[in-house]
Amino acid sequence: MRSYLSKMVSSTRLPPREERETAIEAAGYNVFNLDAEAVYIDLLTDSGTGTMSDEQWAALFRGDEAYAGSSSFSAFEDAVESVMGFEHVVPAHQGRGAENVLYGTLFEDGDVVPNNTHFDTTRAHVANAGANPVDCPVEDAMDPDAPGDFKGNLDLDCVRALADEHGAESIPAIVLTITNNSAAGQPVSVENTREASALAEELDVPLVVDACRFAENAHFVKQREAEFANASVAEIAREQLSYADAVVMSAKKDGITNIGGFVAVRDPDLFEQVKQRAILYEGFTTYGGMAGRDLEALAVGLREAVEDEYVTQRVGQTQALGDALDAAGVPIYQPVGGHAVYLDAEKMVPEVPASQFPGQALVVELYRQGGVRAVELGSFAFPGTDRPELVRLALPRRTYHREHIDHVVETAAAVLETADSVPGYEIVAEPPNEELRHFSAELKPV
Ligand SMILES: *Cc1c(COP(=O)(O)O)cnc(C)c1O
Repeated sequence: MRSYLSKMVSSTRLPPREERETAIEAAGYNVFNLDAEAVYIDLLTDSGTGTMSDEQWAALFRGDEAYAGSSSFSAFEDAVESVMGFEHVVPAHQGRGAENVLYGTLFEDGDVVPNNTHFDTTRAHVANAGANPVDCPVEDAMDPDAPGDFKGNLDLDCVRALADEHGAESIPAIVLTITNNSAAGQPVSVENTREASALAEELDVPLVVDACRFAENAHFVKQREAEFANASVAEIAREQLSYADAVVMSAKKDGITNIGGFVAVRDPDLFEQVKQRAILYEGFTTYGGMAGRDLEALAVGLREAVEDEYVTQRVGQTQALGDALDAAGVPIYQPVGGHAVYLDAEKMVPEVPASQFPGQALVVELYRQGGVRAVELGSFAFPGTDRPELVRLALPRRTYHREHIDHVVETAAAVLETADSVPGYEIVAEPPNEELRHFSAELKPV
């Protein structure tokens, strides 16, 4: 069932093979360097790439651009309170702006910050505040074949071990990322959230939830955690977030907007501190880097994100893509996460040696053979780590249709057919900062 229809459309085309070959070569075999027009189906990210509803577009026109105390801020504040249960909120231009505001306030030199898995901008902001970001995923989180309902969970023993090793006083907060984006979009259970909250209380520190995909996470909880089988996604989201002392949010995910983010906190003193930093880096506390109209669209988007029909179809489309790929024999990370399907490049292009970026080789091939833009999240994006060679196909919200999904599956199946002839790659130019190399480095086939 599909509970929405298209009222405005955007044209897209599959450029002919020859054009794609020229474009990818000119892009240095890095899909970040491609013009979006050269792409047929863009699965680079689900961040800010979704489709707004007519209600959201209508809300844009209500935008009140008053510098201070706009009615758009009030609409946004009401939505955050009603959907997420937080009274104190400061907008930010996007998720990383919110991270800078909260983490710059909470963390200092020498701190150790546990997170089920740090998203890349999160890691950077924790480090920027002088603290040491430590990932505490559950054991099977990065295993593409391990079964598990909540492979996104936080390993509490890992946090306890950090407290023993460094002293509880060096841990300023526990951070829980829902869903766990860097671990294949796997969900976190409410049970795990309660345990994390209890541990945070024991350590006398706040529990921070990175809530980017809180609605998708709630959908998984409904499916997989018996206690919530009859609850609505909206009720589950409220329950899960009720254990958080603060949230950071990128509205470009489950806010269903093209830009925006925020920090919400419970403690009035922390709120005062956060506001001071927000003014410095984002803007006055009632707009924080967002236009009034964007706050309006976000207020509507947040409410839509927790509608059962919407989120069932959203996560269902991702699952359908995963099922179809699996049926076509394409190796994927299982179970499928909320926002993306991850291809297992090691298995898919086994002839490409580990030193020649098998994930990137697969990304290039998906573009060459079908005009599909994916992103590598293996040894090219994360040099020097032992992460599996995964390629992410992230689905923009409410954007692509079944025909597009079919095309992606056909493309992946075609790549699988020709896997023997897929070349490896070597880097020919890269930026000084290795951590950011996958955004701009240029490669060539070996
Ligand atoms: C996207 C994301 C962020 C950062 O948000 P931006 O809006 O891209 O700055 C932080 N944490 C997680 C888990 C994310 O997925």
